[in-house]
Amino acid sequence: MTTDLLTLPPNAPPAFHLLAKPTGAVCNLDCSYCFFLSKEMLYPGSRFRMADDLLELYIKQLLEAHQVPEVNVAWQGGEPTLMGLDFFRRSVELVEKHRRPDQQVLHTIQTNGTQIDDEWAAFFKQHNFLVGLSVDGPREMHDAYRVNKGGSGTFDQVMRGLHALRRHEVDFNILCTLNAANADHPVEVYRFFRDELGAQFIQFIPIIERVEPEQVDAALATGAKLYAGEPGPIAPAPWSSWHDRPLYTQTGTVVTDRSIQPEQFGRFLMGVFDEWVRRDVGTVYVQMFDVTLGAHVGQYTLCIHSPTCGNALALEHNGDLYSCDHFVEPDYLLGNIQDRHMIELIASPQQRQFGQDKMDTLPRYCRECDVRFACHGGCPKDRFISTPDGEPGLNYLCAGFKLFFHHVDAPMREMANLLRQGRYADEIMGVLAQQEKALFAHAGRNDPCPCGSGRKFKHCHGRK
Ligand code: SF4
Ligand code: SF4
Repeated sequence: MTTDLLTLPPNAPPAFHLLAKPTGAVCNLDCSYCFFLSKEMLYPGSRFRMADDLLELYIKQLLEAHQVPEVNVAWQGGEPTLMGLDFFRRSVELVEKHRRPDQQVLHTIQTNGTQIDDEWAAFFKQHNFLVGLSVDGPREMHDAYRVNKGGSGTFDQVMRGLHALRRHEVDFNILCTLNAANADHPVEVYRFFRDELGAQFIQFIPIIERVEPEQVDAALATGAKLYAGEPGPIAPAPWSSWHDRPLYTQTGTVVTDRSIQPEQFGRFLMGVFDEWVRRDVGTVYVQMFDVTLGAHVGQYTLCIHSPTCGNALALEHNGDLYSCDHFVEPDYLLGNIQDRHMIELIASPQQRQFGQDKMDTLPRYCRECDVRFACHGGCPKDRFISTPDGEPGLNYLCAGFKLFFHHVDAPMREMANLLRQGRYADEIMGVLAQQEKALFAHAGRNDPCPCGSGRKFKHCHGRK
């Protein structure tokens, strides 16, 4: 272990999150909605493999730049397992070589799971990796877009990987994108993860795939139809494989028909929340619910719903450091860590401004919004629609955020109160059970359900 201390530049954050992509955008799958596959075009002729000396430099800089005892070494892609197991064995050795005695390191890896076998799983277990596994739901929903290079669904391969992880008792979380194929099925998707996969940690990521009007024109020329949706037009996706797609950048005012719709996003989260809050608080962790509860007690743990951002960066296979995983594009390249220490790039005026812009560019509609404390306008990459009074810069998902944050407000306040009293948030389940018992006590079987669903009591909460 090394004890060298680095002189930190002014404005250096004490901690930050960095997603490293040792294979760049290279992946063994060809998921239809994956914006990242096109990033290969940024590095023509590259072999897309992080070199050994760069790996060591990266680990060394990451550890010496942190001023807090916990450091996360996070691998992502593309598909990072394509580097082979020896690369990760070496990364663990290098962490041991360079970490300060007071530093604890959490290794994480985001993977599509298709390469994971017993050898990988045993390695992950030995070094306490937290493995993020991409699954979009039961087979038919997962296979809608998560396909291999031949266009076939990958559900069986991913489940093989998951079973290896479970056999070796590796900690894993499920990362589920929300898209046109699964977004109307919140309870089915959630129960599948909880009951079939045994997931205790779940993240939902909305797919919002933007395209330029001229790309839409190309799709329309093939006979496809453009149809108007809320809040803007939805186009048939102009491509379904990385072979056809141009370099994806965060531009374009049209979304593809694979994308989730704003209110659909809100209703999905509400559906999962209603199930979770009645039986799974404290045993299943859904990132969005944790983040919302955090906001109710004044803590912000996820960049998307924090007042500012700028501390979640992406490192390419050649050492190029970008402002964010969603902005791996030329305008957001901060520099290369072989030329300048990563902490200088992270503390640079360019990156500090990137993070501050999240707050400074909020439209008045957001600044005056009653759920701003929990939402903070969402991620800037999704702010491409206009407010009702015509100001640009509103988040595409706004209508969904409003639905969700209002829907969960009362139980979240209740849980926040429990936490402030030094009690556990899971007591909410007993509180709700009592309230519902009182609410439903006098409802007749043919009465409208008192929950307000509009259905008869016997078809809703009074169902035997
Ligand atoms: S741009 Fe979005 S994803 Fe990136 S750091 Fe900011 S809030 Fe997070
Ligand atoms: S809910 Fe809508 S208006 Fe309110 S802060 Fe979020 S994006 Fe802005």
